Amino acid sequence: MQPFEQKVWLASPTMHGEELAYMQQAYDTNWMSTVGANINEVEKLAADKTGAKHAVALSSGTAALHLAMKLAGIQKGDKVFCTDVTFGATVNPVVYEGGTPIFIDTEYDTWNMDPKALEKAFELHPEVKVIVVVHLYGTPCKMDEIQKIANKHGAIIIEDAAESLGATYKGQQTGAFGTYNAISFNGNKIITGSSGGMLLTGDEEAANKARKWSTQSRENAPWYQHEEIGYNYRMSNVIAGVVRGQFPHLEEHIARKKEIYMRYKEGFKDLPVIMNPYDEANSEPNFWLSCMMIQPEAMCKQVRSDSEAAYIKEAGKSCPTEILEKLAAHNAEGRPIWKPMHMQPIFRMHEFITAKGSGRGQTNAYISGSSTDVGADIFHRGLCLPSDIKMTNEQQDVVIEIVKSCFEG
Ligand SMILES: *Cc1c(COP(=O)(O)O)cnc(C)c1O
Repeated sequence: MQPFEQKVWLASPTMHGEELAYMQQAYDTNWMSTVGANINEVEKLAADKTGAKHAVALSSGTAALHLAMKLAGIQKGDKVFCTDVTFGATVNPVVYEGGTPIFIDTEYDTWNMDPKALEKAFELHPEVKVIVVVHLYGTPCKMDEIQKIANKHGAIIIEDAAESLGATYKGQQTGAFGTYNAISFNGNKIITGSSGGMLLTGDEEAANKARKWSTQSRENAPWYQHEEIGYNYRMSNVIAGVVRGQFPHLEEHIARKKEIYMRYKEGFKDLPVIMNPYDEANSEPNFWLSCMMIQPEAMCKQVRSDSEAAYIKEAGKSCPTEILEKLAAHNAEGRPIWKPMHMQPIFRMHEFITAKGSGRGQTNAYISGSSTDVGADIFHRGLCLPSDIKMTNEQQDVVIEIVKSCFEG
């Protein structure tokens, strides 16, 4: 197989034309600022889409998460239960506010926070008041179970829906389950503004606070009057133009992502692998990234240090490192699963709670089948496949052949 002439991406921006028209409008009317019609419009679009009553357009999903942590009232030293297998941006904002993330292990059904481990965590730390959940790769987490546990313990939920815009759980959009929630318009998300994010909430007062904090916390006075710490977190009206142009294409992006996922699933049906799973009865993901995981018995030996990976080839077996290397050699972009937070050097000393109990994070030392935690296992055996919606079926067929070739003799 020849390498692709044009790189096949994991997930790249897909523009449609309207984006440019709305950016042009911002330019022509000289609203080249963090005020303007595009911003008002995207806030309405996001609130309408998700069913969250209020939306505040911000410079990034991370900024939205940061303001969510502030709204949740996280103080120095407060423990916060966080999803473990995720992008660092989920967790860093907890630390910005002085909170201490405690990582909750993952379940195999959706690759999200394990309600059993969360229940265990509340046995150990009944005082915790905030839970940060993620819908990994656009797959809704076990929302009902997690909400029940949160209610029982009087904790609030912050939803990091950065990857899951448009995904539903029991018919309800992600981004509207938690008390304060975040979505992202980063360049590789399901729709993009090139950058940008939004805070979603049902609480009008909270939305007003976030809007004020995001524009340097100016008080109502003839001069610059400040009673609170402020941030420069507001979305630009030019960026909002891009987001505004993308919104009408969200469902079309999701439909194409789903097609890609289903084509992989069909293409791999004779391989010892599974696709990233979801609760087919209760949820509809947005299929942002198609991922696969190799069955334990089909894994060749693979080791990873903090910066390198190696594996020993075995007939009929493979590993994420081999597949990712082969994809790269063919000019296609895959990616490892998010490395669990409890395995990250910066968070290794933090508490990590599995369904079995509590411990500290771990180092990279990991041998197939030896781990007692689910996150490390998914990281070890899983990977993200090229999921770009501009990838053609022919290109995807080649990607499928490349993956198949890894399991040959
Ligand atoms: C992308 C992402 C973020 C951060 O969003 P930005 O807009 O890039 O700041 C947060 N959490 C998750 C899970 C993400 O994938």
